[in-house]
Amino acid sequence: MQELLDEIAETMATRKERGKVADYIPELAHIDPSRFAISLATVNGERYSAGCATTPFSIQSISKVFTLTIALGKLGDALWANVGREPSGDPFNSIVQLEHEGGKPRNPFINAGAIAVVDAIMMGHEPKETLAELLNFVRYIADDESICFDHKVAASEMAHRDRNASLAHFMKAFGRLRHDVDKVLGTYFHQCAIAMSCEQLAHAGLFLASDGVNQPSNIRVVSPQRARRINSLMMMCGHYDASGEFAFRVGLPGKSGVGGGILAIAPGQGAIAVWSPGLDEYGNSLLGTQALEMFAQRTGWSVFGH
Ligand code: GLU
Repeated sequence: MQELLDEIAETMATRKERGKVADYIPELAHIDPSRFAISLATVNGERYSAGCATTPFSIQSISKVFTLTIALGKLGDALWANVGREPSGDPFNSIVQLEHEGGKPRNPFINAGAIAVVDAIMMGHEPKETLAELLNFVRYIADDESICFDHKVAASEMAHRDRNASLAHFMKAFGRLRHDVDKVLGTYFHQCAIAMSCEQLAHAGLFLASDGVNQPSNIRVVSPQRARRINSLMMMCGHYDASGEFAFRVGLPGKSGVGGGILAIAPGQGAIAVWSPGLDEYGNSLLGTQALEMFAQRTGWSVFGH
């Protein structure tokens, strides 16, 4: 495995086309596009990494997996009254379907859906209480107390919030949000601004690879059925309007973020985190996807066969 990860990192270093760093969040615009990292955490407790795998980056939408997990723990199936479970086939920040579907977002991983999930877990609490709960959860599943928010990234997104604010106000007009829009957005932007390294992220994803059991504590985080369902949503919706393409090329549930990270889950095997800040036209890491494609081909890991 170590040889494979080294080879993937070396291969990616030779690629000329690296994609474009997200610049609609100004604080992310100056990240060095040549950074690359990959980490694998296996269900047997093995750890492998290559590249700058201990460098924290903005996990952005990968955080939506963690807030969804918390929301399902708090609300159970009641969550689905205000958030759907269908791939959207539209960009991550699209508003069009909201109008046709009574302000109900298609799934928890597009921005509108993630904003609705944050609103659901706030339950009358102040943003800082919700954020403390989220950070505690992420630190627990990553087994790492050093994980923090990058407040500069959150502030940068808040200052350029017009598009996400439109989504939130639109949903609120349909009665889908219960809390003050700016409080929900402030919480959402901090959630997205969690900074983690590939090593931390792969570790945090392990419970989804092991039917809901946290590692190394061996304590159950979610039921096996819930872990499978979260994986199914990652597979169907984790890469926005390129989710089909990711399923076709990689064959594993995955969630991307505009910081250039991707968390992929190989059930029964392990969790793989990659980071390369340059994005493709859909807002997913260009080399991150190529790296996972190479990893899946070489290991044969896939949820579609063995
Ligand atoms: N914080 C980003 C936004 O709301 C997340 C998008 C992403 O990572 O895909 O635009």
